Amino acid sequence: MSELYDLEAARSPEQRAYMAGLEARGVCIFCPEHVAAEQRLPIEHTGEHWYVKRNDYPYPGTVAHYLIVPLRHVVTFDELPDAAGAELWAIRRALKAELSPLAAATVERSGDMRLNGGSVAHLHTHFVALAPAPAETVRFRVSARGAPDSTACARPARPGTPR
Ligand SMILES: [Zn+2]
Repeated sequence: MSELYDLEAARSPEQRAYMAGLEARGVCIFCPEHVAAEQRLPIEHTGEHWYVKRNDYPYPGTVAHYLIVPLRHVVTFDELPDAAGAELWAIRRALKAELSPLAAATVERSGDMRLNGGSVAHLHTHFVALAPAPAETVRFRVSARGAPDSTACARPARPGTPR
């Protein structure tokens, strides 16, 4: 079983093979020591708990797409101290000041990557900046194993489960 990558999330056979190779070598591309070798765009800022870089594959419809990633290899947000939360807020504030977007959206991929829509088991936050008249709607996929259309995801509750 894969520990670092969700191979099912690969978007091409080439990407899947690449991810399987990383898994075999035990290399997490989000751990800061591997960014230079395994990612195209460099780390732009390193703080106490997080680093910030542009996403190598910005989502269509965004004018800027950053990843805010913990320096430590953690899987869930609550593995970090509250001070990391304060720093994350400050990073978001700085990105907003720098980019002056009309709007921004963040999605944090925490926990089981097969459900949070991520392909790497290292906590990370997407920060996307939005401008008027985007080329297309920006879509974040979560619940990766759900129905193809998220509007069709409402499943019947298990008996006794509050909705
Ligand atoms: Zn990592």
